[in-house]
Amino acid sequence: MGAGAQPPRLPNSAPAWQRDGHDHVWHPYAVDPQAPPPLPVKRTDGVRLYLEDGRELVDGIASWWTACHGYNHPHIAKAMHKQAEEMPHVMFGGLAHESAYELATRLASLTPGDLDHVFFADGGSVAVEIALKMALQYFTNQGVSGRTKLGSFTGAYHGDTFAAMAVGDPDDGMHQGFDTVGPRSVPLPLPTDKEASQLFHDLMDKHGPTLAALVAEPLVQGAGGMLVHEASVLQEIRQACDRTGVLLIADEIFTGFGRTGRLFACEEAGIVPDIICLGKAMTGGVVSLSATIARTHIRDVFADGNPDHALMHGPTFMANPLACAAANASLDLFESEPRLAQVAAIEAQLKAELMPCREIAGVAEVRIKGAMGAVELEEPVDSEWLKQAFLEEGVFLRPLGNIVYLTPPFIIEADDLRILTSAICDVLAHRAEQLG
Ligand code: PLP
Repeated sequence: MGAGAQPPRLPNSAPAWQRDGHDHVWHPYAVDPQAPPPLPVKRTDGVRLYLEDGRELVDGIASWWTACHGYNHPHIAKAMHKQAEEMPHVMFGGLAHESAYELATRLASLTPGDLDHVFFADGGSVAVEIALKMALQYFTNQGVSGRTKLGSFTGAYHGDTFAAMAVGDPDDGMHQGFDTVGPRSVPLPLPTDKEASQLFHDLMDKHGPTLAALVAEPLVQGAGGMLVHEASVLQEIRQACDRTGVLLIADEIFTGFGRTGRLFACEEAGIVPDIICLGKAMTGGVVSLSATIARTHIRDVFADGNPDHALMHGPTFMANPLACAAANASLDLFESEPRLAQVAAIEAQLKAELMPCREIAGVAEVRIKGAMGAVELEEPVDSEWLKQAFLEEGVFLRPLGNIVYLTPPFIIEADDLRILTSAICDVLAHRAEQLG
């Protein structure tokens, strides 16, 4: 252990592997030596996490919104097993393989309009980077030189890489430390009411001619606080982009694959973005894979025979066959099992069981959209206290600041969902009593 390093603070029950690796592994976001260590998970199944110490927890967030079919779905495991035996990986430069071609064909037919041209990568932030790069180059390939900026929305989160950080919320996001380096974007308000709409259109008129693209999270801004807006807001954004010649990028990395009630959130607004980014639940949450899908007018300016017009991008593990096999199996499940009906049932149950939290002292708002329910608290919370209280109720939740939210697997049974909603209501009611 180096000078100044913190001694591991692990409970006696921690397994040997966690003790050995504790000082060597860097977990995401906060590194607080005083915080309880991460929970050691031994196995997963359905909607449950089984811990090394014998506890089992109902998972309320489906591993950052990915495990839409629950954990360990046998159909996905079988498809990956077969693919692993045949060909776990092969590079995508100059080589092709069936799993990726099948997946691209299926995504092209499932996504709205002529979003037909699929560029695979290995994670959501990278998918956003690629979309931004595509949008900027779309104009330069056509000899348009003035569109060098990007537009974004307040409340947005699009990932942790540099350009993705640039289109995240500049004030309340998690990347303010980088606001003096790397690219910057033009932040706009979501046109959610008359005043915001006026400002949005004024800013689009002012900056539109210099913007290559505007990036939006359709219907729900996830990591920014599970902020929900109406489908009409998206329609207004699409119209403003059309009016000003700005490309619209829909980041459906969180909302895609059923989370908001439709397969893609854009469907509810009846809009077709110029580029859509997908990731997270695409493989059923089993392995990382993302897709940046462009409409035909975008693809065409990269494929005009001029070598200088090619998209210079090619992640090493692009279109990894194992990940594509998992994604194809996940799409099979959307076809063969009633996923969207399950999302509708979750939404109805969340309305019945989570909405009453509005009456608890200290709760500012409850927001529900599809298989997402969020309770916003008026004041910042002691998140470690909250997490511990939820653990004692047998559930795993990870609040986002003052937002306690649920994004369960779609296969969750009503009884298990009730364990989650009751845990939130009970813990928040208990907190309200304590605060007096
Ligand atoms: N875009 C959105 C809307 C997200 O919610 C996220 C992750 O939470 C990302 C992009 C980044 O994805 P990844 O973490 O796979 O890089």
